[in-house]
Amino acid sequence: MTADPVAIARNLIRCRSITPEEGGALAYLQELLGKAGFSVHRMTFAEPGTAPVENLFARVGSEQPNLVFAGHTDVVPPGDEAAWHHAPFGGEVAGDRLYGRGAVDMKGAIACFVAAALDHLAANGGKPKNGSMSLLITGDEEGAAVNGTIKLLRWTAERGEKFDHCILGEPSSLEVFGDTIKAGRRGSLSGTLIVRGRQGHVAYPDRFDNPIRGLVTLIAALQAPLDEGSEQFGPSNLEFTSVDVGNPTVNLIPAEARGRFNIRYNDRHSQASLKALIEHRARDAAAARIRYAFEWQPSNADVFVTKPGPFTDLAAAAIAAVTGRRPNLSTTGGTSDARFIKDYCPVLEFGPVSRTMHEVDECVPIAELVALTAIYRRIIERYFG
Ligand SMILES: [Zn+2]
Repeated sequence: MTADPVAIARNLIRCRSITPEEGGALAYLQELLGKAGFSVHRMTFAEPGTAPVENLFARVGSEQPNLVFAGHTDVVPPGDEAAWHHAPFGGEVAGDRLYGRGAVDMKGAIACFVAAALDHLAANGGKPKNGSMSLLITGDEEGAAVNGTIKLLRWTAERGEKFDHCILGEPSSLEVFGDTIKAGRRGSLSGTLIVRGRQGHVAYPDRFDNPIRGLVTLIAALQAPLDEGSEQFGPSNLEFTSVDVGNPTVNLIPAEARGRFNIRYNDRHSQASLKALIEHRARDAAAARIRYAFEWQPSNADVFVTKPGPFTDLAAAAIAAVTGRRPNLSTTGGTSDARFIKDYCPVLEFGPVSRTMHEVDECVPIAELVALTAIYRRIIERYFG
């Protein structure tokens, strides 16, 4: 009797765990994992100015190595529920698909790794064959992500938990299931460039100092290429996303102009080196004529990469055995909780095809859930093999 990932996924989807609500999803996992022999801990993390969020940590076994599966049960809101053909929290199966908010991102993958872990325990007398399995499940990934994985990891470290490798079940596949493992992410850094001038009548521009001219000069300088990419990453990119003057009057030279930008950067940079590079370019372009300043936003999304090695090979081999496809090791896309986990152990992301995530009628093929469970099961077996 093997665990049924579709039944688990349906039960999870029926929990209205719209971020940051727990919605019964963690309570359901707690019961399921507890019955299978995991010791399960639930904790709520809070911080002034943010909603308190529930999290779950579970472990079975006391030896190393400790293989970790990570994920989030919170989901983005469904939007207009009337626009859905299948109720977003119904967990309906129609045709060959399971529908509902979180089917792809990422209750489906949680169901698959829970089913795979339960199967492994059932086949080995209720214990991992050799080592431990742990689960890190948060309810704060789609929201602010301050009362979730980052604090959950700190909590486990204070208890003396040690992790050896982690698989995060985010929907990593791009076009077809099994085509992509995410083995790193670009960093993300945002800032504002503020250029100061002198306000005055537009008919007398030589008496005043139009900051828009300075802003245009600096924007042009900052848009030059940052690098040519690295072994596992494409080139870093700086993109201006907003230019703001807020001037309601056409015959007035404004006193100040602002440009906001975001940089997605590869492993040739750190946040500090990147800020130094940008500020150096601005200094050169300003040539002591343009008065400007930078405001940098704090960022907890630093670049990271999991280098190819035995762990990525093991995952790729399991994917190839089940799907017949050799996955790419990719570092594209937005950030995920892997940015926090990477400080504790090597982490890779593998899960369903991302296409319908966050959409109306989000859905995952049943066959994908079955194959993903088989892949996770194979990874567990080989890992403890
Ligand atoms: Zn997600």
